[in-house]
Amino acid sequence: MPDSLAKTSLSATSPDSRAIFVDTAPPAKPRPDQLPRIPIDPRTNAIFLDIDGTLLDIAPTPLEVKVSDALRATLASLSRVFDGAIAFVSGRPIAEMDRLFDPLRLAAVGGHGAEIRFAPDSKIRRSEIATLDDDLRAEFSRIGQIGDGVIVEDKGYSLAIHYRLAPHLGGEIMKSVTAVCKSDRCDSLEILPGKAVIEIKPGGYDKGTGLREMMSVPPFTGRKPIFVGDDVTDNAAFAALQDFAGTGFSVGGVVPGTSFNFDGPQDVRGWLRHLSEERR
Ligand SMILES: [Mg+2]
Repeated sequence: MPDSLAKTSLSATSPDSRAIFVDTAPPAKPRPDQLPRIPIDPRTNAIFLDIDGTLLDIAPTPLEVKVSDALRATLASLSRVFDGAIAFVSGRPIAEMDRLFDPLRLAAVGGHGAEIRFAPDSKIRRSEIATLDDDLRAEFSRIGQIGDGVIVEDKGYSLAIHYRLAPHLGGEIMKSVTAVCKSDRCDSLEILPGKAVIEIKPGGYDKGTGLREMMSVPPFTGRKPIFVGDDVTDNAAFAALQDFAGTGFSVGGVVPGTSFNFDGPQDVRGWLRHLSEERR
């Protein structure tokens, strides 16, 4: 694997690109109305968590992300309680998740399904499907120069153009993406507009294929998955849940077919803490 896939790199037109996803510790006592009212059994359920916007708050820019020790401890405790049946499902490469949550490691689906690690200590398996074509990658990256506050995050397998700091440029960015995609150049790609971000990834895998694969191995297999996600790239994972009698929880916006909606990542962290303390 080229080194470029092992880490997320960022380029920004703004010199002021600091922390984007900021974590705070899980709140101690969620109110009852902040908790999903479905029974959860650590012996028969599995938990799948998107990271950015679900577990961690989204701040203006994507560089320094901080994870609190309290959140690490909560996830480590849940991993023990669920006998390892808890996994991250993210657009970030797995190496990046490990860096963020170090020393905690979980089973993980990374790169929107391009990578999978079935257990915390097992090897990362990477998709055979090609990553973004170099020419296209360069052209999409140049869209970062469209104006101050536009940040291009090269995730290796995919590219994300963030414009949270420049929401007025959203339309122009989408136009530029469409222009790069002229003729049939992007036929094998998926262009996914999210929350102040446009994700560009190869087709052929997604968070849904990753979740399905994870469900095919122990300790996940035979359990009912619970997936928590907040954005358009999570829809494939929500859709996969029906194959396993699973349950979806959305964050920050109601997704059809999900059973509960958290107001924000803070409430997801509160729920996880509640789950881990309830089972101790
Ligand atoms: Mg997300």
